[in-house]
Amino acid sequence: MKPTTIVKCVDFTFDGQGLAKDSRNRTIFVPSLLIDEEAEVEILYRKKDFDVAKIVKLIKKSPYRINPVCKCATSCGGCCFQNLEYKKQLEYKKKVAQDTIKKIGKIDVKISNIFGMDNPYFYRNKIQVPFGYDKQHRLVYGFYKFKSHDIISNSECVIEDKIHVNILKNIGVLLKKFAIKAYDEDKRTGILRHVLIRVGKVSKEVMVVLVVNEKSFKNKTQFVKELIKLNPEITTVILNENPRKTNVILGEREEILYGPGFIFDILCGLKFKISSKSFYQTNPMQTEVLYNLAIKKAELSKDDILLDAYCGIGTIGQIAAKHVKEVCGIEIVKEAIVDAKNNARLNNISNANYLCGDCAEYLLDKKFNVVIVDPPRKGLDLKFVNSIIAAKPERIVYISCDVGTLARDLNLLKKTYEIKSIDLVDMFPHTRHVESVASLVLKK
Ligand code: SAH
Repeated sequence: MKPTTIVKCVDFTFDGQGLAKDSRNRTIFVPSLLIDEEAEVEILYRKKDFDVAKIVKLIKKSPYRINPVCKCATSCGGCCFQNLEYKKQLEYKKKVAQDTIKKIGKIDVKISNIFGMDNPYFYRNKIQVPFGYDKQHRLVYGFYKFKSHDIISNSECVIEDKIHVNILKNIGVLLKKFAIKAYDEDKRTGILRHVLIRVGKVSKEVMVVLVVNEKSFKNKTQFVKELIKLNPEITTVILNENPRKTNVILGEREEILYGPGFIFDILCGLKFKISSKSFYQTNPMQTEVLYNLAIKKAELSKDDILLDAYCGIGTIGQIAAKHVKEVCGIEIVKEAIVDAKNNARLNNISNANYLCGDCAEYLLDKKFNVVIVDPPRKGLDLKFVNSIIAAKPERIVYISCDVGTLARDLNLLKKTYEIKSIDLVDMFPHTRHVESVASLVLKK
């Protein structure tokens, strides 16, 4: 038995573990321990400034502790807050966001709202499942264990759409039947690395992407034929080849094995074509809340020229298009821009134009007076911030999935812009992530 000690949890770490202190005030990270709880913990390993431990016995239990719905919640790296009441999760996310805005952004704006979900389960429309083998060489698929690349077998994730359960089970059966090996990350042998499933929440169309290590997927036509027979709800199957040693799931080359190679979905009443490599928000119910909020905050009018920066497949700009004179979308992934152009046509939108490129490189030579930016976690490129400051649009709505980089960028913009409001939308219940919407107005 490793040494144990008594700790009290005082906060959460940035990745949702309990941040606890022992009697000598030493910092100990304990997954699944909630704020104000006390526990006897077993020290797993020591580092210079902290220890990492696991709960042996809870001594004082939080009144907000609940039983997680998922049986893997404590070992899986996906959800860290399933054992905390949802209302408390929202309060905690709001507090962290508020502290970050103040500490990193040096901004005194009170976060107005956090919009949560009525039913915070089965919300995700996309699942990416690694396939491999366990120590006994049995086929496993599921999720990566917290901070590791070991796969824990779980086919019934409670934050993903239920449609994946049966499809994954049948893929497992067919792999055995066709003697197709799953990928071994260490030896770099085997064929199937990941299965990605994307479902249109409204359209019910289902895309399955089989990510393989090499192209020699024997009997792939027969494999797909049998899969479709077992799961007729699948509308398209794509083979994606990723031979590289990398954490990036999708490779460059693709081959359509069944159906059109894309799916459609409906958001805020418009239809969107989605291909495997294009970004599409993963929580469709909350995406509507997010987009409606962003569009409201942009206070659009018929004279406005709107720049939809980091536009993906064109969703926000096209939903906003009827309120403005013109929309210009910019996006770096060429497949997404092809989708965006198609989507504008599909939705009979004639006032939206698209440009494929890096926002930071785009010289902002076009006149626009409103900007909606929706960058990835790393936030805005400094060059892009400077071009915005130089172009001086009247209003900016900044949608962000990382409040740290949002705060950093708002700090750069606050001299030129008044930060009028910040709201949060919980797109990712049970995880530590949250989406923010900040609205900025040019100072007079
Ligand atoms: N607004 C869209 C997409 C948001 S995700 C939506 O709501 O669906 C962020 C997008 O930014 C992704 O599509 C990504 O491909 C794109 N992107 C990342 N870096 C970029 C850059 N430097 N310039 C332009 N687009 C970029």
